[in-house]
Amino acid sequence: HRRTAEDYVNQLFETVIQRNPNELEFHQAVKEVLHSLTPVLDKNPKYIEHAILDQLVEPDRCISFRVPWVDDKGKVRVNRGYRVQFSNAIGPYKGGLRFHPSVNASIIKFLGFEQIFKNSLTGQPIGGGKGGSDFDPKGKSDLEIMRFCQSFMTELRKYIGPDMDVPAGDIGVGAKEIGYMFGQYKKLAGAYEAGVLTGKGIGYGGSLGRKEATGYGAVYFVEHMLNDRNLSFHGSTVVVSGSGNVSIYAMEKAMQLGAKVVACSDSGGFIYHKDGIDLSTIKRLKEVENKRCRDYVLEHPDAIYTEGCSGIWTLPCDIALPCATQNEIDKASAELLVRNGVKAVGEGANMPSTLEAIDIFLENKVLFAPAKAANAGGVSVSALEMAQNSARLSWTMEEVDARLQTIMNNIYRESMKASEEYGVPGNLVIGANIAGFVRVAEAMIAQGV
Ligand code: GLU
Repeated sequence: HRRTAEDYVNQLFETVIQRNPNELEFHQAVKEVLHSLTPVLDKNPKYIEHAILDQLVEPDRCISFRVPWVDDKGKVRVNRGYRVQFSNAIGPYKGGLRFHPSVNASIIKFLGFEQIFKNSLTGQPIGGGKGGSDFDPKGKSDLEIMRFCQSFMTELRKYIGPDMDVPAGDIGVGAKEIGYMFGQYKKLAGAYEAGVLTGKGIGYGGSLGRKEATGYGAVYFVEHMLNDRNLSFHGSTVVVSGSGNVSIYAMEKAMQLGAKVVACSDSGGFIYHKDGIDLSTIKRLKEVENKRCRDYVLEHPDAIYTEGCSGIWTLPCDIALPCATQNEIDKASAELLVRNGVKAVGEGANMPSTLEAIDIFLENKVLFAPAKAANAGGVSVSALEMAQNSARLSWTMEEVDARLQTIMNNIYRESMKASEEYGVPGNLVIGANIAGFVRVAEAMIAQGV
């Protein structure tokens, strides 16, 4: 059987490359999943017979569209919008929107593909999708952002709905952008369909704890992984890349658990603060004043700012939490982290480690929490937001946080269990992919072709 599953996976991967030439990020995400699923296919030939993976590597549909908008000088600008609806086997398509100049079909497809398995792992009834635009919100006025969001939603509206496809935020899309998009959707739909978007403001259908969920969830997950080896965040030195929503709340929870966070970053460079980052300064700079990491050192002269964001991985730490973007840790950075004694890596961003970097961590027995499991807290609380919207009520922060903790604990247990069942105990990359895959595959078989 072993050869059959391996041949099948290799052949399918070749097909994916041929059908999607030059989409390197998509290839990378597919490669990791296909290879880690070989043991399951080996044990359960039915998944090959039902062509489950042949179906999953092809999105249900990819939508791309023109987004025209008028800038503050009255000039017409044009961006490209995307929505990729990958799988609705276990629930409506669900996944964020990313606004960043690097956005293209490959990026949206890798994110959408990962979302299928991540969302399944949460145990919530949500399928996988992703979208976004190459629009760069950096340096744009509030009105420009509003006009862009309205134009984006004018087209996107045709493809989404509370039981069809439910977008949320990602890089470059926070509560402000979601608010503008929700306003436009509401006008076009002529109805208040709160559950069509998640990550909304608290006053109009948002969930308490959604903003914190990805960062908190990642730290809850890593803490479980550490506790299983009699380790903990308590007393450890932590480096967290990024300074957006995921990074800020990962830092906050790590600090609450007694860690010292010594560094964070943005696309310009990174801050090293030996005695520990002052989170209230970062929050004000990033959430209120729209400023850069370099401005931190003006207020904290004992901290050091260095240009270039990848340099953050040269800093020695016990725990590394990459919370910025894809492929931010390459082979060389992984080797350096290992040489500097890193004990655990928890992926807050989507696919922040290259395939070579993951191999380095696993070979060197670094505890490794893969993105699909570790950063699933955000989309989990999005599913809780949908539940609250359907029930027309809102839960307290305590209730949401308790549910998030339970979900992250379940994801950890399920991923561990799958890794043990398939002979790679503790390999959470394989464990998470298998646990996420099996639920989707069974639903697809049950529902027929
Ligand atoms: N963009 C987040 C993710 O990568 C959240 C998606 C959501 O809440 O739908 O999972």
